[in-house]
Amino acid sequence: MMLLRLVILLVIVAVLMWLLKRLFSNEPEPEQLESARSETMRQCRYCGVHVPESSVVRANGNSYCCTEHAELDQ
Ligand SMILES: [Zn+2]
Repeated sequence: MMLLRLVILLVIVAVLMWLLKRLFSNEPEPEQLESARSETMRQCRYCGVHVPESSVVRANGNSYCCTEHAELDQ
């Protein structure tokens, strides 16, 4: 029964592909990616560059992309 063997082979390949897909979709920490995507962006008051909330430099209640720009804006 060649046809039956072919069908079984196709099913095995399909399952393997599905497993690989699942494995790869889980590869780069999905939680980490999600937080990076949904992180609030702040605009540097000096140059206008958008910086993620976590790496923003704060000075006098304003947001900056780096300490250099925070000092230059004073
Ligand atoms: Zn800047």
